[in-house]
Amino acid sequence: MKRILIATSNPGKLRDFAGAAAADGVEVEGVPNFAALPTVVEDGLTFEDNARKKAEEYSRAVPGEAVLADDSGLEVDALNGAPGVHSARYAADEPHRAGSNTDDDANNQRVLRELRDVPADQRTGRFVCVLAVARNGKTLATFRGVAEGRILDHLQGAGGFGYDPMFYFPEIQKTFAELTPEEKANYSHRGAAFRAFLTWIDKSPGILRD
Ligand code: IMP
Repeated sequence: MKRILIATSNPGKLRDFAGAAAADGVEVEGVPNFAALPTVVEDGLTFEDNARKKAEEYSRAVPGEAVLADDSGLEVDALNGAPGVHSARYAADEPHRAGSNTDDDANNQRVLRELRDVPADQRTGRFVCVLAVARNGKTLATFRGVAEGRILDHLQGAGGFGYDPMFYFPEIQKTFAELTPEEKANYSHRGAAFRAFLTWIDKSPGILRD
């Protein structure tokens, strides 16, 4: 079975990747000793900048291995694309300067508060995920996935992570927090980006180790 190393400490992302990989006979694993590695500062202006930076820096810790990194977030149209690249630390007073992530619930409450007066038909938004694959500090390729949905005025569902409970996906009339990891992988930005990565891997023999 092919094995891919993922550079993340986010258990929600790891669950999503495992859900997406299950159908394709690929095994996903965290980068060994990830917690002990120096944290990469996510100061890029785009998801792609940050995904490349994480993949490149963390791949140096495992010479010769391909490492996949994810940068992702929620773009809300009525908030001019916020929280965007600051999704993980949106509840901080100055998210662009925050040194560490803020709590999912606090992030959700800030978005709900900021959208309080926005009518249902203007509560459009999307999740975006950019994956970068790097080896020995160099990016080999990047992949982008998007899921378009609506932002509810309440939280709904107990699964998933991050903004999942407010992200309503019209096609299945559920929030992402109401799906199993396998179901979420079918519809999500992360699932779409991961499938693009798997297609690329199929055409690029020798990138992954057995
Ligand atoms: P990153 O670790 O800098 O990529 O931050 C990603 C942040 O975006 C997460 O902490 C969540 O707040 C949000 N996010 C990204 N993908 C998802 C998802 O699939 N569901 C819910 N929230 C997500």
